[in-house]
Amino acid sequence: MKLLVDRRSRRVLYAEARKDAVDFLVGLLRVPAGLAARVIAKHAAGAADGAGDVHADEAHAAPGSLGTLYAGAKALGDEFFVAAAPDRDAVLCPAIPSAALALLLEGEPAAAAAATPPPATPAPPKRYFRCAGPYGTSCRGNPTCVTDVAGLPCPVCRQPMTVEMRWSPGDAHGKLAQAAAQEAAAASAGAGGYVKEVVSYLVMDDLTVEPMSTISAIMLLKKFKVADCSALEELTVDLGHKEAVLLLKAALESKTALTDVFCGGVSIDRLE
Ligand SMILES: [Zn+2]
Repeated sequence: MKLLVDRRSRRVLYAEARKDAVDFLVGLLRVPAGLAARVIAKHAAGAADGAGDVHADEAHAAPGSLGTLYAGAKALGDEFFVAAAPDRDAVLCPAIPSAALALLLEGEPAAAAAATPPPATPAPPKRYFRCAGPYGTSCRGNPTCVTDVAGLPCPVCRQPMTVEMRWSPGDAHGKLAQAAAQEAAAASAGAGGYVKEVVSYLVMDDLTVEPMSTISAIMLLKKFKVADCSALEELTVDLGHKEAVLLLKAALESKTALTDVFCGGVSIDRLE
């Protein structure tokens, strides 16, 4: 992701992002609140360990009461839960497929599994059977019953239904097309991402996303009243696990998420 930074105000004006970064941002919308609380708390714990600073925990805990809500629910005894789940986190922070999970859960054993849901094994095609329509029965020449279990007795003639029939699907009410569309949507919900590859995207400091164009970029400079372009710097940043967690947190509490994460006193100093 490339940031356009105003050195004077130490603000990110906007970012130019490719599909993977935008997929991550859109994927943040699919992260359950419980999972967000856990990821942020875990990150805070890691930061506290590293710095040996007791205040780091408070400083980095999930915004608002989300962190304490999660911690309290996790601390509740098994006897208060309807179902004794082996893993409380499965209840509190279910990992629904999201393109953001790969980065947020990086380093956790569940990460790979959560990020890419196991490919759904397609159900074996259903098979249908009728009786052979034996002589001397009303089924002769005109069997009227069908079953999906081979060998069941025909309700009419009591003979085993073993003759396979061919299923010929029709597309009444466009159901097939609908099913195909749903399948495609389900596939894109996971690893495929959400936005198209074709263009670069413009990400505002408040994480508004729109397609990039020269005109929109120039209009933004005008909007930000940038008169002196020499104060503008381009800054290329990586979107790793740490940035992912910080972005999630910033998205929950700030309107200047990019500035908070990438110009929060560290990255921008490299420019000066
Ligand atoms: Zn029959």
